[in-house]
Amino acid sequence: MTDAPRFRPSLLEVPGYRAGKRPERRDDGIEAFKVSSNENPYPPLPNVLKVIEAVAHEVNRYPDPGSVELIAAIAAHVGVPADHVAVGTGAVALCYQFAHATAGPGDEVLFAWRSFEAYPIVALVSGATGVRVPLTADGRHDLDAMASEVTPRTRLIFVCSPNNPTGAVVTQAELDRFMSMVPSDVMVVLDEAYIEFSRADDAADGLASYRRHENLAVLRTFSKAYGLAGLRVGYAIGAPIVIEALNKTGLPFGVSVIAQAAAIASLADHEELRVRVDDLVTERRRVIAALRGDGAEVFESEANFVWLPMAQATHAFAEYAEAAGLTVRAFPGEGVRITIAEAQANDRVIEVVRSFRVG
Ligand SMILES: *Cc1c(COP(=O)(O)O)cnc(C)c1O
Repeated sequence: MTDAPRFRPSLLEVPGYRAGKRPERRDDGIEAFKVSSNENPYPPLPNVLKVIEAVAHEVNRYPDPGSVELIAAIAAHVGVPADHVAVGTGAVALCYQFAHATAGPGDEVLFAWRSFEAYPIVALVSGATGVRVPLTADGRHDLDAMASEVTPRTRLIFVCSPNNPTGAVVTQAELDRFMSMVPSDVMVVLDEAYIEFSRADDAADGLASYRRHENLAVLRTFSKAYGLAGLRVGYAIGAPIVIEALNKTGLPFGVSVIAQAAAIASLADHEELRVRVDDLVTERRRVIAALRGDGAEVFESEANFVWLPMAQATHAFAEYAEAAGLTVRAFPGEGVRITIAEAQANDRVIEVVRSFRVG
């Protein structure tokens, strides 16, 4: 008899990551929409596609391991020195890098809950203990409660603004107060995956804030506002000492030739992309107003999705929506997160929530 390979015990607790389902091809003529993964509904810009096609001819070569051109483009875009920028294969990879760089067995990784599904998994895989601090009733980070959960074992804290899945931002005043309470040797990651969609005047400004705190880094992605989810590229902004730690824990040659080139082209076409983001923000407002007009409970959102706290009705709603051609993200017993997509999909969302409530 042979023994099975032995894995770290903490892996037993790691759930298989449930990616947003692909809508099935339907034969009933109903066009299906996948509004479960907060993707951008728009196809790549023509110029970005052109660049992708052009660099496809170079994939026999490894990518630039330093992503020098992309890092320079990001640094110029956000207005920071190049040694304050790290890139990774999606912001999720950078979350893993933060954990590998800071935490291990016996350490704690702190985050709000419910928040981004990757955080507890990242904590477990690093061997650390994930500590979840409940959101407030209106889906906001309770940063005072989070600060009070900091122990000598806390090595890493994720703060998600706007929060996935509830849509609320952390305000600048809240972040400032929080940073004044957290020990300066504890790494804080402000996850701004959706910040381009925020129109809140009081939202924490990560780029301004990281300059005041060496232990604060900002996380961004090309997957959402920039519409490059399939290419896997994200970035972190932080002090050089933080960036160095991220680079040591990154996958060598991780960000592909195509991802680097497409991200650079997307930054160059920033204005065109901004128009699309503005459209999605307009659509978000329209959807929230319509759903509320129908009496549905919807949280305010600064992201490209909305959160409907449906409690025990969540599972039934998700099935009902699926049958009506809408794949939503359901958190049974809690609520559903629905991505703001093209107007036609959003109209369907309004219709389906309305008819579900009428019964
Ligand atoms: C989508 C998302 C990310 C990043 O995704 P990548 O595709 O890996 O860049 C990071 N944080 C949150 C909260 C997200 O929802």
